[in-house]
Amino acid sequence: MSEAINVADIFGKDVFNDTVMQERLPKKVYKDLKKIIEEGKELDLATADVIAHEMKEWAIEKGATHYTHWFQPLTGATAEKHDSFISTPLPSGKVLMTFSGKELIKGESDASSFPSGGLRATFEARGYTAWDCTSPAFVRHDAAGGTLCIPTAFCSYTGEALDQKTPLLRSMEALNEQALRVLRLFKNETSRKVTPSVGAEQEYFLIDAEKFKQRKDLVYAGRTLFGAMPPKGQELDDHYFGTIRQRIAGFMREVNVELWKVGVSAKTQHNEVAPAQHELAPIYAAANVAVDHNHLVMQTLKRVAHQHGLKCLLHEKPFAGVNGSGKHDNWSLITDDGKNLLEPGKTPHENLQFLLVLTCILKAVDEHAELLRESAADPGNDHRLGADEAPPAIISVFLGDQLGDVINQLVDTGEATHSLKGGKLKTGVRTLPDFAKDATDRNRTSPLAFTGNKFEFRMVGSRDSVAGPNVVLNTIVAEAFAKACDVLEAAAEEEFELALHDLIKKYAAEHQRIIFNGNGYSEEWVEMAKERKLPNIKAMVYAIPALTDEKTVKMFEHFNVFTRAELESRAEIKYENYAKAINIEARTMIDMASKQIIPAVMKYTKELADTVVSVREAGADVSVQSGLLGEVSTLLAASKTALEHLAEVTEKASAMKEGQARAIYYYTDVMTAMEALRTPVDALEMIVDKEVWPMPSYGDLIFEV
Ligand code: ADP
Ligand code: MG
Repeated sequence: MSEAINVADIFGKDVFNDTVMQERLPKKVYKDLKKIIEEGKELDLATADVIAHEMKEWAIEKGATHYTHWFQPLTGATAEKHDSFISTPLPSGKVLMTFSGKELIKGESDASSFPSGGLRATFEARGYTAWDCTSPAFVRHDAAGGTLCIPTAFCSYTGEALDQKTPLLRSMEALNEQALRVLRLFKNETSRKVTPSVGAEQEYFLIDAEKFKQRKDLVYAGRTLFGAMPPKGQELDDHYFGTIRQRIAGFMREVNVELWKVGVSAKTQHNEVAPAQHELAPIYAAANVAVDHNHLVMQTLKRVAHQHGLKCLLHEKPFAGVNGSGKHDNWSLITDDGKNLLEPGKTPHENLQFLLVLTCILKAVDEHAELLRESAADPGNDHRLGADEAPPAIISVFLGDQLGDVINQLVDTGEATHSLKGGKLKTGVRTLPDFAKDATDRNRTSPLAFTGNKFEFRMVGSRDSVAGPNVVLNTIVAEAFAKACDVLEAAAEEEFELALHDLIKKYAAEHQRIIFNGNGYSEEWVEMAKERKLPNIKAMVYAIPALTDEKTVKMFEHFNVFTRAELESRAEIKYENYAKAINIEARTMIDMASKQIIPAVMKYTKELADTVVSVREAGADVSVQSGLLGEVSTLLAASKTALEHLAEVTEKASAMKEGQARAIYYYTDVMTAMEALRTPVDALEMIVDKEVWPMPSYGDLIFEV
């Protein structure tokens, strides 16, 4: 048995958090830093020097030898460059451990190999990193020893964002400003800050590391590119599952401990729908901290899996025909004094504010549905969205019966006078019904569901950063708030209520089409959505243009979240990332088919042919053997033809000029050729002797962990 752990003792023990800062920093410095964190001001060098010194002393006590500016380039992962604390050796031959304020707040790195989409010419390879002091530093312990990790934003020399964090911080600022305007309309003069809160639920698969290594597709592409479904996969006995649980439980326990130490509040864990699939959810935090923590979750899952002889697959669709993995981005707006703007509230006054916030969100989502869809676009996610498991590729909002009904009443009669579940019948503008908190999540098919006091954006891919979707949510809602405030601030005091009522009604009526409470997986919804003129963007390559659409550019520029150049560079990077991902997959398939599968099947046909000959010589009936030989040979020939075609289109794609047209070609031609190769190969796997097949099967991978 493993020893008992005291969570309270270990939680945050490796984090330079508020308690540590309060203990270690001189009072004035602590106060200054708190102010900077709360008000988003810039840190001066003198203060930074003191903080850096204390942070270093603390980190060394925790066993750190190095520090790193931990940042999130546009590759989707995190990046870091490690520097040790040692200074130039002294004449005595000894070294000092140093860390200056300058090194804390700003780093400079040769970042020429990070994607910049043309923003940074190669001769200007410098990238700057700047500490996000609203996300605490921490010491990470791994095979490299202890490393002080400083959560950091990453910009070009001229200040353009080259990462995920910079726009996220900008969008949080924009939203704060506009949300405060909303609160002031309702006479709230006490809240000083509104922060988007995010809780990111993470799904993942765990498989055996040895088996992983035997599959080139998993190694290179992170997903299987071939693989027939096991014939009797789902019906396994209890004993078998019992054994799995122990191995996984040990893994989960260690993941939790590692996360708690670095201050990630890992809360929920459970097995997911598919075999070998699991989920981990932390308690929500400020959006930027939640994004950092989600990266830590992904890294920790991978690292701990490795130590347990397991491999953690974060790909959205590691196995065809088996449920894929996503990330649920739970999002709400919370004030510094603890009020949630998405809490329906108990009094009519709160209800009105809530209804304004809600209808603003409907408007935001309806007007920027393509952009929101884009924010979840990822090569892996193309296999999920709209594939009967994840939310469909059509953006809609689930409100549930009661709220949906309130919106209907507003639209139909101009007044919401009662609530469905027997609320008091009242009249007048002020007296909207109380809302019962819709605590249960009754609809799992909606991409954006209202779940009691938050929205849950369920489209995000499991491997992707949640930064992108939150940048979009924050900014589109900031825009809707701004527009509403422009109208309502202009209304005279005595007309405010009428103006408010009219605006809520107007937004509800104009954007009601985005609400859908039914089954998002159904064909009827696809048809209905078409009638409602809602976009249905099935693939990443067709989603990307939303990034540079005029209305997108205008909005992002207005709120200082992205410049046009930044958006164009991001679109360029996305096309390239897509092309690269599919290129790797196609080449991996070619490699596996030509070097492993076809040779193995050829050997098998020889065995079969030998059998046919010897059985015939023995004078027995060979119809079964020769029938099988015929079948295998036909599929082998089809595989060979498909392989040649795939090689041809992949060559053609590689030779094309970088950009949109190439990415689309990878989608339309290369992906199709990949499917065409997979079909006969998977059929072969079903009939060829298991001993002959050159790699572990789906059954081996997902049922025998
Ligand atoms: P479910 O699994 O049914 O979706 P959970 O209770 O497990 O619901 O919550 C999922 C995630 O939502 C958790 O990470 C949780 O911390 C987060 N969450 C809860 N309330 C909020 C909120 N107000 N804002 C943002 N995230 C929240
Ligand atoms: Mg959920």
